[in-house]
Amino acid sequence: MAMQSRPPVVAIMGHVDHGKTSLLDAIRKTNVAGGEAGGITQHIGAYQIEYNKRTLTFLDTPGHAAFSKMRSRGAKVTDIVILVVAADDGVKPQTIESIQHIQSSGVEYIVAINKIDMPGANIINVKSQLAEHNVFLEGFGGNVSAVEVSAKTKQGINDLLDLILLTADVKDLQADPDGDLKGVVIESGKDAHTGTYATVLVQNGSLVPRQEVFVDGSKERIRLMQDAALKTVPKATPSMPVRVQGFSSIPVIGAIVASTSQIHEMETPSEAVTPAGDKMLKVILKTDVVGSQEALVGSLPATIEIIASGVGEVTESDVLLAQTTGSRILAFNVKVPKSVDELSQTHNVKIKAYKIIYEMLEDIDKVLFVLANPHANEEVLGKAEITAQFDIKGDRIAGCKVTEGEIKRGQNILYKLIRAGEIIATPKIRSLKTGKADIETMKAPGECGLVFRGTVPFKIGDTIECYQLKEV
Ligand code: GDP
Repeated sequence: MAMQSRPPVVAIMGHVDHGKTSLLDAIRKTNVAGGEAGGITQHIGAYQIEYNKRTLTFLDTPGHAAFSKMRSRGAKVTDIVILVVAADDGVKPQTIESIQHIQSSGVEYIVAINKIDMPGANIINVKSQLAEHNVFLEGFGGNVSAVEVSAKTKQGINDLLDLILLTADVKDLQADPDGDLKGVVIESGKDAHTGTYATVLVQNGSLVPRQEVFVDGSKERIRLMQDAALKTVPKATPSMPVRVQGFSSIPVIGAIVASTSQIHEMETPSEAVTPAGDKMLKVILKTDVVGSQEALVGSLPATIEIIASGVGEVTESDVLLAQTTGSRILAFNVKVPKSVDELSQTHNVKIKAYKIIYEMLEDIDKVLFVLANPHANEEVLGKAEITAQFDIKGDRIAGCKVTEGEIKRGQNILYKLIRAGEIIATPKIRSLKTGKADIETMKAPGECGLVFRGTVPFKIGDTIECYQLKEV
């Protein structure tokens, strides 16, 4: 086992039409790994190039949606982000959104000022606009590096690659190709001919065909691995993306691939929203006009962290940013489109709409009270005693006798594992069973099996308490 230097994983973000796809194409065409340039390549979500005898990995799904999706599941995939800004267009709304995503995640980034071949290019203007949005470039009062490029003429592309490698060297990116396997699903789907596929980006260890792996905790076997040219790959080492075929179901983007069933549990943030975990209340504020934005920002309590604020309706990007930063969205006199509302539900993000300022402030006071008194909103539903333990297919299941009330699963349900009056753990539950059947609830004096997520150190004789978290 030895740590070795690994290729940087690079993602591209920026406003639509500023040249993200063109840049990815320009980079790919010049230097595809394995000399496959010109050959037919399939989009697999990422590709590698060789440059100056070194390898670089590029995520091929531009935009911050995929990036936030992965990050919201706790998967840190990207080492370096390239923020693309068109020299003839300057900083635009999605540039600002990208900056918010980048800065809230703390990821390393480089600015690529693209389209410098355009007659309307104004590089100085782009740089000063960036400074207005807290991106301070070298020579402009900060240390963020920028390169001037043209995806069309290829001018500056090599400078960009040099800068990425320099940044990677400073970060000293390492992984152990012989260590414990860890990878992240960056793309997945189903093909009529080949069945399910998933592109896995290996982060540590190596993937080989026929290997048994756990994808978000469920056991799978690697059948076939291919690169972007659909060539069979005998081994995938750190930072290498491979398309894997034959998983029994389509994994979600951000799913963790590991050699044991447990790794992903440590990485994924909590499923149910447990406001108690986070003392600081984070919000994203959307308002109708600049005037109310200023008024609200001025009247919010100082203990609130405003992750972002803007004018206009709530967007999908707001929801993704809220999820990745653990914020709630406050919508003041603005619409929440239906699709955005649906997305917020699947992503467990709270959006609250208000028309009156004091109602918003009252609600915030309530939330702050609960944050300061973490158990104020917990209502006990029931208790169970652990009377048995079963090992089934790698899962350790607790056999329980419900002694009071009920044990339930679902949204905003919290469990505490109690031993000798002390809380040992606040486990998450994957399923509640009676025999083989999944159930939603079991009342006293019934018996049920609890399948926990991850490793939970329960013992026979422990008590499980089940709580409902009341919404605030
Ligand atoms: P994306 O939406 O950010 O992926 O942008 P695209 O890569 O699709 O580019 C949008 C448009 O800008 C396309 O018509 C490109 O051909 C054009 N474009 C991209 N980069 C350059 C550039 O460096 N110079 C010029 N002149 N046009 C570019």
